[in-house]
Amino acid sequence: MDDLKLRAATFHRDALVWDSHACLPLHPDADVGALERHRAAGVDFVSVNIGMDMNPLPQIMAVIASFRAQLQARPERFVPVDDARDVERARAEGKLAVAFDLEGGVPLGERPEMVQLFYDLGVRQIHLAYNRNNSIGGGCYDQDVPLSDLGRRVVRAVNAAGMLMDCSHTGYRTSMEIMALSDGPVIYSHANPLALAANGRNIRDDQIDACVATGGIVCVNGVGRFLGDPEAGTSAILRHIDYLVQRVGADHVGLGLDYEYDLGLDQDPPGYDRAYWFPPEHGYGKDGPRLRIAVPEQFPEITEGLLGMGYAEADVRRILGENMLALAGRVWRPRRSH
Ligand SMILES: [Zn+2]
Repeated sequence: MDDLKLRAATFHRDALVWDSHACLPLHPDADVGALERHRAAGVDFVSVNIGMDMNPLPQIMAVIASFRAQLQARPERFVPVDDARDVERARAEGKLAVAFDLEGGVPLGERPEMVQLFYDLGVRQIHLAYNRNNSIGGGCYDQDVPLSDLGRRVVRAVNAAGMLMDCSHTGYRTSMEIMALSDGPVIYSHANPLALAANGRNIRDDQIDACVATGGIVCVNGVGRFLGDPEAGTSAILRHIDYLVQRVGADHVGLGLDYEYDLGLDQDPPGYDRAYWFPPEHGYGKDGPRLRIAVPEQFPEITEGLLGMGYAEADVRRILGENMLALAGRVWRPRRSH
C-alpha cells in the first residue's frame, strides 16, 4: 500500500459516513441483513427507501413493519434512528444506523397529517413527487407544474414534523416553490448537476443554488445514467462532487449513492407500468440488462479520491457525512412520547 492508500483507509475508518439514499426490494421478505455491505464499507448511516408514488399503501406498510421488526431484532448490528444522536451512538458502537425515506407524496393519500404518522414509523426524509406529476406537485419527467394548494399544506406538515424535505425526482417549478416556501433546510438526497450529465433527473444550477440558500445539501447520486458514466466509476462521482464544491462549497455537499440491493424478490405492484414511471425517452431501458450503479464498496474509494485531489481533511469529513449529521441534528426531533 502506498502512503495515500494507507492514510485514506485509516481516515475513512474514523470518519462518519452518511449514505442519504439506498434501496432494498420493496418486499416484506427482503432481508435487511443485506445492509451489512454498507457497514463493511465504513458507512455509519443509511436512509432506506420504503416506498414510491407507484406503491400501494398496504405494500408500504408491510415493508415498514418488516424492516422495523428486523432492525429491532438485531440490536448488535443495527440502530433504528429516532434522532441524530442515534447516528452518533451507532457509530461509537460500530453499528449501522438506519432511517427510512418515502419517495413521493401519493402514499399520504392527500392527508398532510399522514406526514407525522410516517415520521412516527421511522421515515425521516420525503420527496413530494416521484418522476411524474401528482396532486401535490410536479415530477421531473412530466409537464412542469407548480406546487398545488395541497402541496403547500404538505410542505408545512413536513416542516412541522421535523422531517427532511427532499427535492430529488421533483419537477423544476415545484422544487423551486418548495425551496422558497420551506421554513427548514431542503436537501437533494440523490441528484446530480445537470451541467455534467444531461438527464431530466439531474438538477439545474439555480436549483442547486436555491437548495443551498435554504441551508440545504446536495448529495451526489451513484447511478451511471445520472453520472454521465455507464460504469458509475468513482472518478465520475468525484467529478460531480468537485463541481458542487466549486459552485457552493464543501459545506453543502453530501453522498446518496442510490445503490439497489437486488435480492431476487419481485417488488412490482399489480398493474405497474414501468414505461410510465421510467420513460424510455429519458434513456430508460436502453442500458442493456442492468445499468450499473455505484456499489457501497466505492465509499472508501471516494475518500481516497478526495484526499488524492488535495481536499482538506475537514472538507472530506463534511462531504462524507458531517454535513448531513449536522443538518439532521437541526431538523429531526425526538419522537413525542405517547
Ligand atoms: Zn430515487
